[in-house]
Amino acid sequence: MIATLLVGGETIALRGDLGAGKTCFARGLASGLGCDERQVSSPTFIVLQRYRGARIDLVHVDAYRLSNPEQLRDSGLELGAHDCVSAIEWSERVESELPADTITVSLVAISATDRAITINAPANFIERVGWSMRARPCAICKAPVAFLGETKPFCSKRCRDVDLGRWIDGRYQISRPIEQTDLDED
Ligand SMILES: [Zn+2]
Repeated sequence: MIATLLVGGETIALRGDLGAGKTCFARGLASGLGCDERQVSSPTFIVLQRYRGARIDLVHVDAYRLSNPEQLRDSGLELGAHDCVSAIEWSERVESELPADTITVSLVAISATDRAITINAPANFIERVGWSMRARPCAICKAPVAFLGETKPFCSKRCRDVDLGRWIDGRYQISRPIEQTDLDED
């Protein structure tokens, strides 16, 4: 669900003990961004992995083995790049490199199956969360519609085209004469 609120350029710091579900969260994020979530594993030998998404890519970073925060920059990662979202595990180790608008997701295992999630985010992100609570799902398929999505109020170009098709083949009809106010942009 959080994935639909991401527009690219966000840095997400994942916090939590081993086994708290950070990789699981990253996998959910990958799935929400349209990446192949099965490829997302706990990145043990590499610092970062990039997954191609439908709208934006996910860069999954494991800072566990970095001995100093500067190594994150050396890895070639550009935090804030608009074509991707960066999710950083063990972000505590690279604190000084994190942008001011980092979204911090803290995970705590409260039982074998339950996790408590706390999200600390800048105001503009909180605004998007507010928007998503008011937003209506896609009129065609009921999927969540991305904030700033180019195809709003539809979730995708495909659903927008389906809608257009329904107008063209007459399944949608206007039951009264068109008035000027119907044509005004709202
Ligand atoms: Zn749809």
